[in-house]
Amino acid sequence: MYLFKKVNDLQQHLNKIRKNGGEVGFVPTMGALHQGHLSLIQQSVEANDCTVCSIFVNPTQFNDNADLEKYPRTVAKDMAMLTSAGNNVLFLPDVSEVYPPGLNTELKLDFGDLANVMEGYFRPGHFDGMAQVVKRLLDIVQPHRLYMGQKDFQQLAIVRNMLTQLEMPIDLVMCAIIREEDGLAMSSRNVRLDSSLREKALLLSQTLQEGRLKMPSKTPAEIQDWALKELTIPSFKPEYFEIVNAITLQPVKKFSDAEYVVACTAVWVGEIRLIDNLIYKEE
Ligand code: AMP
Repeated sequence: MYLFKKVNDLQQHLNKIRKNGGEVGFVPTMGALHQGHLSLIQQSVEANDCTVCSIFVNPTQFNDNADLEKYPRTVAKDMAMLTSAGNNVLFLPDVSEVYPPGLNTELKLDFGDLANVMEGYFRPGHFDGMAQVVKRLLDIVQPHRLYMGQKDFQQLAIVRNMLTQLEMPIDLVMCAIIREEDGLAMSSRNVRLDSSLREKALLLSQTLQEGRLKMPSKTPAEIQDWALKELTIPSFKPEYFEIVNAITLQPVKKFSDAEYVVACTAVWVGEIRLIDNLIYKEE
């Protein structure tokens, strides 16, 4: 696996690949890799001549400094995992390489209501920072395909919207959520859960699943109310449990209101904020 820390070195390498007709797949991450990340790498490796994974803990998308500081960093282990997954190139830039002084990387896009709900509501500024770094990384890597996880459903919707607004000809591939054996969605933040919270954390996926079983007899609002009560246990603080149109991300009143419906939740488990989602309806 090649390791590049500098934009120029990475671009020289990728230019050669593209010149020879090679296609590039890109998997942006913040590191502390797990099987969820590796599933994105594997899908890219299968479909592209060269897979680039970036590891960059992007300061502009953290609205909480403590969260940024405590974000797990495990580069040596990440490199071993990437190598065994068949990844071709790791891009590991410093902050000054992504945001060089003098380069205006600011991105002024209006994501409308997509960015006002759920994560956008509870993490003000998060999606502006996320879109800024994804745009900057896409400009650097110029991939044919971009791989992102369904785990961050709203992030994916916003990146899809950004690619459309900017007319960037990149295929966005949504990859399924990889879960632990008990159903907990894999996340870099899970390592920060102590054993008792780790055990309780499976309540997120359980509630999403049980909520879906209630669909024939309950309205989305009734399921939401029920779910928020289920998730209100000691050490837990649910922020939202929303059942939304999976395209517009706006709440649905009836399940028949949309063809594609997803339930999304964010819960503080102790001091760790976890998110998860489950498709409720897809036609
Ligand atoms: P992150 O390092 O958390 O920014 O995630 C990098 C990419 O991996 C994003 O596109 C995530 O949606 C995706 N991802 C994170 N967790 C999972 C998971 N459990 N299953 C599948 N993809 C995931």
